[in-house]
Amino acid sequence: VAGWDDGADVIVVGSGCAGACAAIEAARAGVSVMLLERTSGFGGTSALSGGALYLGGGTAVQAACGFPDTPEDMFSFLVAAMGPGADERRIEEYAAGSVAHFDWLVDAGVPFKPSFWAEPTWTPPTEDGLMWMGENSHPFRELARPAPRGHRPAAAGHRGWLLMEVLTTAVAAAGVRTVGDTLVERLVWDPSAGVVGVVARRFGEEVVLRAGHGVVLAAGGFIANNDMLAQFAPRLLDHSKVGTDNDDGRAIRMAQAVGAATKRLETAQASINFPPALMARGIVVNGSAARFINEDTYPGRVGQHALFHQGGRAFLVFDEQGYEEVAEDLRMGRIPQWTCETVAELEAEMGFPERALQATVEVYNFHAERGEDPLFHKQAKWVRPLRGAVGAMDVAARRAHTNDGALDQGTGFRVFTLGGVHTTVQGEVLDREGDVIDGLYAAGRTSSGIHGWGYISGTSLGDGTFFGRRAGRAAARHVR
Ligand SMILES: Cc1cc2nc3c(=O)[nH]c(=O)nc-3n(C[C@H](O)[C@H](O)[C@H](O)COP(=O)(O)OP(=O)(O)OC[C@H]3O[C@@H](n4cnc5c(N)ncnc54)[C@H](O)[C@@H]3O)c2cc1C
Repeated sequence: VAGWDDGADVIVVGSGCAGACAAIEAARAGVSVMLLERTSGFGGTSALSGGALYLGGGTAVQAACGFPDTPEDMFSFLVAAMGPGADERRIEEYAAGSVAHFDWLVDAGVPFKPSFWAEPTWTPPTEDGLMWMGENSHPFRELARPAPRGHRPAAAGHRGWLLMEVLTTAVAAAGVRTVGDTLVERLVWDPSAGVVGVVARRFGEEVVLRAGHGVVLAAGGFIANNDMLAQFAPRLLDHSKVGTDNDDGRAIRMAQAVGAATKRLETAQASINFPPALMARGIVVNGSAARFINEDTYPGRVGQHALFHQGGRAFLVFDEQGYEEVAEDLRMGRIPQWTCETVAELEAEMGFPERALQATVEVYNFHAERGEDPLFHKQAKWVRPLRGAVGAMDVAARRAHTNDGALDQGTGFRVFTLGGVHTTVQGEVLDREGDVIDGLYAAGRTSSGIHGWGYISGTSLGDGTFFGRRAGRAAARHVR
């Protein structure tokens, strides 16, 4: 570049949860910070989210709700739940620092109500601050002492919005210069000093900005980039996208252009459009009418298994009693796609081969009579024979089968990417040789976080805020 138009010690790209936390910590470390955001408003996908943060190890909310927890149990759960390829080193740090991170969020102004929501759901209709995220289900309950760790900010309305309002206020209070309408397009790389700035576009003009200490990339994932999906995560194409158009993977590509390695670009969250409380009371079957998972587990796990291991075919089968037991505001606006007097009729209407679904229900009911589920180990409290009139839903159902039309896009799988730039636990970006790229940091969904092939709600805002803070501190400390 010929010269610099402006600059700061640390430049943070993206104003979501990871970028906001990086900016706050860098500024609190005493350096000048510029936070660049391509849109006119701040908060990114984080502001649209459900606001759940995966935290534990003994937080004040857990203690107030009567759930003892330790970092060791949180670690054991997360290593299993984050699935094959989970980053154990990162999880260890995350679990060990979780209580302190909770306190930091509370100090920043994030309100958590010390009350517990017990029913399976994606989003409780209440302000309760704590909920299960599958910790009490098989196989996790056998691997670690179960404790609920889904922490939710208390807000009558949108919780992600509240979280980002609080963090954005903290960004301003820390003295960060926030600059909107600024699309970062490239990194400036100096062979002797590493990444020294960014080239951005503001209202059609190119601006070149110098970063005295470093650049933190926190610009979201790549779920909105079909070319990248086709190349790295083709199984996500054609499903409902969770995120915004700005999750275009540009930051990942910018980092790749200066030699960054990427990690687990193929991994993804895949939530499913079945009401969790109804899943727990029914059975989920694949395209062969066979069960494949304990239906009371974290509902995103059902979605991942259905999409990645069952060819995207899944049906929720339940009886009238189960349906009636689920409060209307927990049914996600979904109504049964099929209702029949008997399982045999349902099987025929759904197009399953004769006896396929009947055999599945017969085996399920045989064991359920004794309150057991020896095949998939659903918790006893949800195990009851399916009797009388039955109904079913197809994961592929669209608007016609919902009350509010909210699912009228893609399929019933809602996906976003988890992989990204490979970093150290301090957020330093690594190159393909495993060496640190001088002056370059990443956090949030631009980076590969704690996830392998698994996901639990709250781990994205959780690791984004936790490792975002670290990346900000590391960038502030960095001297060339
Ligand atoms: C409906 C919904 C519910 C969700 N619920 C939860 C939940 O409860 N818990 C949870 O953990 N996760 C949840 N998620 C996922 C979670 O919101 C995201 O994974 C997380 O917010 C990503 O944070 P981030 O900081 O990495 O990115 P973002 O919050 O997306 O922030 C990135 C920012 O960078 C900006 N940007 C992008 N490119 C550039 C560029 N080139 N130059 C400048 N700026 C740029 C974007 O505009 C954006 O503002 C949910 C997502 C959705 C959509």
